[in-house]
Amino acid sequence: MIKFNKKHFNVFFVTFLLLNFILKVTLSQNLAQTKSRVQILSSEEFHGRGYVFEGADKSAEYISNELRNIGVKAFKESYFQVFGYSVNTFPDDGYVKLNRQKLLPGKDYLFGHSSPKISKKYEIFLPDSILLNDTIKFEEMLRESEFKNYALIIDYLKTKNLDIKKYYIRKMMYNKDFGCIVELIPDELMWSVSRFVQTYPVIKIQRGSFDFKSKRLKIKINSKYFPVFAAKNVIGYIPGETDRFIVFTAHYDHLGRMGKSVYFPGAQDNASGVAMLLDLADYYSKNPPKHSIAFIFFFGEEAGLLGSRFYTQYPFFPLEKIDFLINLDLVGTGDEGITVVNGAEEEYEEYMRILNEINNELDLLPQINKRGKSVNSDHAPFNDKGVKGIFIYSMGGKTYYHSPKDKPETLTFAGYESLFKLLTEFVLRIENK
Ligand SMILES: [Zn+2]
Repeated sequence: MIKFNKKHFNVFFVTFLLLNFILKVTLSQNLAQTKSRVQILSSEEFHGRGYVFEGADKSAEYISNELRNIGVKAFKESYFQVFGYSVNTFPDDGYVKLNRQKLLPGKDYLFGHSSPKISKKYEIFLPDSILLNDTIKFEEMLRESEFKNYALIIDYLKTKNLDIKKYYIRKMMYNKDFGCIVELIPDELMWSVSRFVQTYPVIKIQRGSFDFKSKRLKIKINSKYFPVFAAKNVIGYIPGETDRFIVFTAHYDHLGRMGKSVYFPGAQDNASGVAMLLDLADYYSKNPPKHSIAFIFFFGEEAGLLGSRFYTQYPFFPLEKIDFLINLDLVGTGDEGITVVNGAEEEYEEYMRILNEINNELDLLPQINKRGKSVNSDHAPFNDKGVKGIFIYSMGGKTYYHSPKDKPETLTFAGYESLFKLLTEFVLRIENK
C-alpha cells in the first residue's frame, strides 16, 4: 500500500494529466475523423447521395473503400447488393417566375417531387380565405368553370382546420381541375423522393417569398423518370467467435439534387448514421467481438425503405442468426439525449433496462426516451420478419429535415461519443446473455 506524500501526489498528478491529455487527443481525433466523414458524404461532390450525377455510386464507392481500409470482410465478391426501382429525378435546372420575376430555387421554392417535365404559363387562381375554407362552394365553382390554365394557390396559413387542410392535400394528390398546384409553405420547405410521375406540376413556395399581387406564373421543370434505377446496399462484417450476429444498419442515400443549383447534403439524414457505423467498424476491427458484427448501409430509405425491404427478402446470411439489430438514422446531435423506437414495446423492456443501466453507470446521455413501434426507418422491415431490433435517433440541437440546409455545420455531435460508448457497452452486455 502506498502512503501518500506530496511527491507521490505530484507524480500521480502529472501522470493523470498526461493520461487525460492522451485520452482527449485520441477521442478528439476520432471525432475529427467522424466529422470529416460527415463533411465528405455531405459535400457537393456526392450530390446529395441520390439519383443524378452518380451521387449514389460515388457514395457507395466511398463507403466500400472505407470498409476495405478498416478491414471489414465482404460476404460475397464485393460489398454490394444490387437492386432496382423506379424514381422521378431532376437532373437539370428549371425555373419558377411570378410576374416575370424569377424565384430562387431551394430557397424560395422546390418543385413537387412527383412533378412531370413541363414548360408552361398559368393564370393565378388565389381563393380568398372564405372560398378556401368553404369546400362545398369550392367544389361548385369547379363544376361551373374550367381551370386548366390556372395555377391553384393553396395558402396553408389560411386553411382554418385540419379537415380543410386534408381536403386540399387530396386535391393536390388527385388534381384533375387545375393546370398546376402551388402550395404556400409557412415553415421550412421540405423535399422528398417519388417513385412515380403525376400528370401536373406542383410547386412548393416559401410563403414569405410569394407576391400575393402576382397574376401570372411561368414554370419550367426538367424532371426525368427512371423506370429502373440501379441501387446498391453496401454490406460487410467483422467475424466473431460464434455463428450469431449483431447487426448495425444506417441508410446512406438521401434526396439527391433538384437540378444543378440545389442539392440536399443530408448531413444529419443520414451521413451521421453512416459515420457512426464506420466508427463502430473501426472499433470492432481492433476489439474482436464475441458474435459477428454486420454493418449494412442501405440505399432507397428515402424512397420508402426499399433497400432494407429488399435485403430482408434476399439476406446475405439467415435472418434467424441475428441476435439484435440497431438502426441509426439522424444521430449527429444528442444535446437532449436519444430516442429509442420500439423502446416502449413490452418485448423490449429488458433491452431498455440495459441501455438505461449503462447510461446511468457511465453517466453518458442526458436522457433515453422511448417510443412504440414505428415504420419510420430501416429497422421496420427486419421487425416485420421477426428480427428483434431498435431504431435510435438523437434529440436536441437545431437541424433541418429534408432541406438544403441539412448541412454538417448544424450538427452539434453533443451526444455522439456517448452514444458510441452506449452502443459498444450494450453489445458487450447482450452478447453475454
Ligand atoms: Zn433518414
